Amino acid sequence: MSTVIQEAPADVVLMGLGVMSGTIAAELSIAGYNVVGVTRGPYWNYATDFASNKYDEWGIGFERKFDFPASLQTTTIRNNVNQFALPARRPTFPIQYHSLGFGVGGVAQHYGGNMGRQGPWAFTMNSSTASKYGAGHLASINPNDDTQDWPFTYAEYEPYYVAWEQAFGISGNGNGNVNGAPMPMSKNYPMQGHPLTPLGSAFQSASEALGYYACPHVSSLASVPYMNTYGVQINGCVYDGWCGSSCNYPCETGAKANSAFRSIPAAIKTGKFKMVLNSEVFRMDTKADGTISDIRYYDAQGNVHVQPGTVFFNGMWGYNQTRSMLISGVGAPYNPTTATGSVGRGLTYGYGTYSSTGGPSGSVAGMGLNSFCAGNAAGGDTFLYDFMDDNFDHTGLNFIGGAQQSAGGYSGGGPGNLTQAGGVSSASQGSAYKATQKSKYQAAATGHVSFGGVAPDLPNTTSYWDIDPHYVDAWGDPCARITHDWTPNGYLGASYFASSPGNAPFIAILNKMGATGISNGGTVVAPFSAHTDWWGHHWRGGNRVGVSASTSVFNGWQQAWMAPNLFAAGEVNNTTGDTVPSGTHIAGPQVQIASEGMQKYLLSPGLLTASLDGKTGPT
Ligand SMILES: Cc1cc2nc3c(=O)[nH]c(=O)nc-3n(C[C@H](O)[C@H](O)[C@H](O)COP(=O)(O)OP(=O)(O)OC[C@H]3O[C@@H](n4cnc5c(N)ncnc54)[C@H](O)[C@@H]3O)c2cc1C
Ligand code: SF4
Repeated sequence: MSTVIQEAPADVVLMGLGVMSGTIAAELSIAGYNVVGVTRGPYWNYATDFASNKYDEWGIGFERKFDFPASLQTTTIRNNVNQFALPARRPTFPIQYHSLGFGVGGVAQHYGGNMGRQGPWAFTMNSSTASKYGAGHLASINPNDDTQDWPFTYAEYEPYYVAWEQAFGISGNGNGNVNGAPMPMSKNYPMQGHPLTPLGSAFQSASEALGYYACPHVSSLASVPYMNTYGVQINGCVYDGWCGSSCNYPCETGAKANSAFRSIPAAIKTGKFKMVLNSEVFRMDTKADGTISDIRYYDAQGNVHVQPGTVFFNGMWGYNQTRSMLISGVGAPYNPTTATGSVGRGLTYGYGTYSSTGGPSGSVAGMGLNSFCAGNAAGGDTFLYDFMDDNFDHTGLNFIGGAQQSAGGYSGGGPGNLTQAGGVSSASQGSAYKATQKSKYQAAATGHVSFGGVAPDLPNTTSYWDIDPHYVDAWGDPCARITHDWTPNGYLGASYFASSPGNAPFIAILNKMGATGISNGGTVVAPFSAHTDWWGHHWRGGNRVGVSASTSVFNGWQQAWMAPNLFAAGEVNNTTGDTVPSGTHIAGPQVQIASEGMQKYLLSPGLLTASLDGKTGPT
């Protein structure tokens, strides 16, 4: 029988210690508050845990020895309310490769490190589309549309972008464009971009010659040694390529940004931060007024601990964040029949490759990857924002938004090139495979460029998160259930980029680069012939910020409408967005906002006004 242990109250209680919670731990402990953070898993040390395990591709990539075991807790998936949802049972290709955060640093121990700001259009996607293309346009292209604007504009968000980028440590130089002009930034990234490959430079020159705006890939892998705004010293990437490919390989130098190597060391240094490891949070308890009184968690021995606090932060990521609110009875659960309630509502997937094998492609001679065999997961290429947001005219088109385009990225590292994680086939073993691997590294080899991508998956009233009525986790609590299928917007965007006239700019860039063997387009999967069959790492919405308690869970201070001493941040708190593989960067400023909101709450408890303090960056 487990013992119940009552812990001393803290000013601030954090659930999880990933990217988002790490910022709160640092900011609030530096501000002088007593902070307690509870997480699953250990505090990984890159020198002793990762460097000494360096060559264990099987253990890391397949056995997932640094990940949270799916056998203890997973989520179930279905495409619509008429289906029976089945659980994803293992985080391994094919089907499911997203791993779950486990320990300090969370899932960012495993991520790619692709960064890049979300531009102004995405914050006002709903109202901008209505004013430019007509009030009924979104409803006509997105059945059961549930798209909303964010509760703040890009200009209001901008100062928080800067604060987060300087603390987390972002490498890059500029961030794409807005209607032809550089995206407004009051401060450039703190570290230079990663060195470009010859292919990345050729792509940049060709794009710029045609009037597009290319900038180096924005990345959270430190390009040089750096001391962040918390005074934490960060090692630069040594370009050994270990973390490449399917992103399962944690960094052995600490160059890949996550809370364990950026924010938590600063929190520990204050002496005000208590870290509780190897523990499973399973409930938030509430008072009569709806505020949170404490959280309950199991320690590694199965004892139950009760941790009271004044203000709470839910940084458990994705469905863990949403599920914990549903099973604790915090907030109004979404009801898909009546389209009422907000917890679980507006679930969308940030981006996907489900509907297209791309657009035009071609080969550029003499652009082999010889000098870049030790690439990492994000860098070497340049990217364009010209084909996303509303940076091109969508008049007459049946989709909104678009996709970031890039070329010349590093080839990935040793384990990345052993593409076994993608399933074993002649493409991943045998003599033909070996020949392609060898030629990849010859300086005289041919570089390949391809374009395309899908437009964003949009929120509707039929995709949502709730509690599964059949499956439970190892502790006996119900699993989360995903009900989601891809929306038409993604397919229609993919078709546009893969065929005329949408493919014309890409063919022009390929010609400018001197490419040969240019194909005019990719293969578009027939609309609605592919369905969501996995849970990924960029779920957006499901626990949205917004201006109304009836359709959002958190207000503009990241504060729960129904429980004012609960704050949260992460991609699931995004309102919506375009197709960019940099969800952590887009959510990062939300945690800076939450940090400010929590300090306001500690000084004067209550519901904060749902707008920021009038701070603005450039428009
Ligand atoms: C393979 C892969 C590639 C990715 N690539 C990119 C990329 O290139 N760019 C990008 O921007 N993003 C990428 N992501 C997504 C990115 O990693 C996440 O957005 C980010 O790490 C989320 O941070 P977080 O703090 O919200 O959650 P996490 O980092 O997951 O932290 C959650 C924390 O909560 C803890 N926790 C969870 N449940 C409980 C519980 N019940 N009790 C106690 N503790 C709990 C976990 O241990 C962890 O510490 C990728 C993710 C994966 C898996
Ligand atoms: S290539 Fe990846 S694993 Fe190697 S130092 Fe750079 S970020 Fe770390």
